[in-house]
Amino acid sequence: MRYPVLLAARKNKAILEIPGFIACGQSGEEVCFLKMEELIPLPASSKLFFLPNRHPVAFNTKNNSFEELRDLYPVAAFLPPGYTGLYSASYVEEGRAKTLPLFSYTPVACIGAVYYVPAIRVDSRRIHDMEGVKRKKLQNKILNFKNTRNRLIRHLADCALNNCCPNAVNFFLHKYECPLPVSPDCNARCIGCISYQPEGSPPASQSRLEFIPTPGEIAEIALIHIRGLRNPVVSFGQGCEGEPLLQAEIIGKAIRIIRKKTKRGTIHMNTNASLPEQMRFLCREGLDSIRVSLNSTRGEFYQRYYSPRGYNFSDVISSIIIAKEKGKFVSLNYLVMPGFTDREDEFGALRKLIKKSRLDMIQWRNLNYDPRRYFKRLNICSESPLLGIKMLIKNLRQEFPSLRHGYFNLPKEYFNTPK
Ligand code: SF4
Repeated sequence: MRYPVLLAARKNKAILEIPGFIACGQSGEEVCFLKMEELIPLPASSKLFFLPNRHPVAFNTKNNSFEELRDLYPVAAFLPPGYTGLYSASYVEEGRAKTLPLFSYTPVACIGAVYYVPAIRVDSRRIHDMEGVKRKKLQNKILNFKNTRNRLIRHLADCALNNCCPNAVNFFLHKYECPLPVSPDCNARCIGCISYQPEGSPPASQSRLEFIPTPGEIAEIALIHIRGLRNPVVSFGQGCEGEPLLQAEIIGKAIRIIRKKTKRGTIHMNTNASLPEQMRFLCREGLDSIRVSLNSTRGEFYQRYYSPRGYNFSDVISSIIIAKEKGKFVSLNYLVMPGFTDREDEFGALRKLIKKSRLDMIQWRNLNYDPRRYFKRLNICSESPLLGIKMLIKNLRQEFPSLRHGYFNLPKEYFNTPK
């Protein structure tokens, strides 16, 4: 019988197949077999990680039982944008195991010397595919701005060259979506924030913006990007900043400058949607679409992940409803954690939110946080039935046929086109 063979690593990080052991995944506390129909070949540009002070759990076909392999170490994949993992890697921690860095950890198996992962491709667009980007070409494009006095362009050059931020790279290569970070501060303290991590936590993967750009600096970048580009998107709320709604006034002025010059281009905002009145103001000023980040559609788990300051979960829902009332295209940046997101209790709350808000799209993003620590820190212990990420999306497609599913923001030219 063909089955996905466990892939593990020795102490020296050499990766090897372990015949006789069926590879497994984990959903919260549950160790699950990886089903052949859930596996896809490991996508190009995936990263493979060696997980220190941890040992893989797999199914031993000789004695028909799950087993912890204490002389080996787990191998996990960090999937590229566009793919959503269906399980987390299955392993047991040693007592001295530290919190893993801010990535998602999808199990990897081997079938006929080919690596496979339990994942689905939720978006076929290659917007953040950096595989083919030639560094020399990027450097030359950035040199075109060597005399700029625009601090934000200089910030984006650093993001493109040193943080490999796909949106910053796309600005300089003049394609797809251009980032407009504006806010050094945030009114939340997400445990998985990629631009701010407290002392003693895993390192933040992006350096936080240190200044507030002027409306002129913002508009200059947006207009450079929009000019001559098919279906351009410019977006506030990037990985290297806090919450853009805290700079609503400056953003409003920038939108007015942009819209005085052109009606083209989608003006979008990635946001924690914490401030409904600022959301109402920016919708009036000309925002076209928003994407709201949520780890959960239930206030108690939102609270434990975001630690909101000066706002609460109901404000987030109010902002979503205001944006819909103003005719904006609203997406969820749904941070997926297998074993939490795909349980009936969370799914029930998600369906209620979709019905209530009539939101337009769900972006199924892998939550980049140590899976074991996530369940511990949010004190998650649900007995609710496990549906599986794939089944979740299938059920939503049936119940909400007009709801879109993807991974990347859409240009306004596609808001009303058939899926
Ligand atoms: S809302 Fe964004 S910037 Fe603010 S803490 Fe969360 S991840 Fe970080």
